[in-house]
Amino acid sequence: MRIDIMTLFPDTVDAFLSESIIGRARKAGAVEINCHNIRDYSEDKHRRVDDTPYGGGMGMLMAAPPIYNCFEAITKGRENEKRHVVYMSPGGKTLDHAKVKELAEYDSLVILCGHYEGVDQRIIDEIIDEEISIGDYVLTGGELPACVLTDCVCRLLPGVLSDTVCFEDESFAIGMLEYPQYTRPFEFHGMTVPEVLISGNHAKIAEFRRNKSYEKTLRVRPDLLQDKGTEK
Ligand code: SAM
Repeated sequence: MRIDIMTLFPDTVDAFLSESIIGRARKAGAVEINCHNIRDYSEDKHRRVDDTPYGGGMGMLMAAPPIYNCFEAITKGRENEKRHVVYMSPGGKTLDHAKVKELAEYDSLVILCGHYEGVDQRIIDEIIDEEISIGDYVLTGGELPACVLTDCVCRLLPGVLSDTVCFEDESFAIGMLEYPQYTRPFEFHGMTVPEVLISGNHAKIAEFRRNKSYEKTLRVRPDLLQDKGTEK
């Protein structure tokens, strides 16, 4: 997959996505990620990318032309690929595991990060396939949301994690939250690891984990059980 991120802060986004698992996946060629500076596409001699909103009101809006120029440069000659263009926006549909799985099926994602009060509606109307929010709160810019989206989509791509079991067995993928996990030392601050986990009985361990998953989901996110009709 190729992911192109349109932002006013490409170095910030690129730095985050160069570390750890995603950084290694980029180096190994499992995913191509390019961060583009929208300001480079401004036609203004001072490289301005924002202006005051028509009708008045607080703050500034990102203007359509630099974003459009950036988008055109990214997509030129790539008309036939299976592409999805996303605007990170508090006004979008809230991101969840089902949406992440859907996005991981595309050949290419183009992600627009807004800033200030957001972007001119006409750029949304013209180039955006979908607005996606990462939660019911407002951030100063779309950079963190773009990193969140890129990170969770990349985890599902072949060759990014060591084994598909790594994500098939996790919270949400199993329709519930994950069970509690433990590692050495066996005793920490007077608390020991549940005996069943050192029993070597795989059926009992699986049952213990499923029960713990169910208990936690019922306590913290009962809506997940209702949505999926999951039974204990
Ligand atoms: N005026 C906008 C509103 O009320 O919906 C908020 C603009 S916000 C200060 C600036 C940018 O941050 C947005 O254009 C968007 O790209 C990004 N952003 C903020 N909160 C977000 C969220 N919850 N999910 C995704 N993107 C978000």
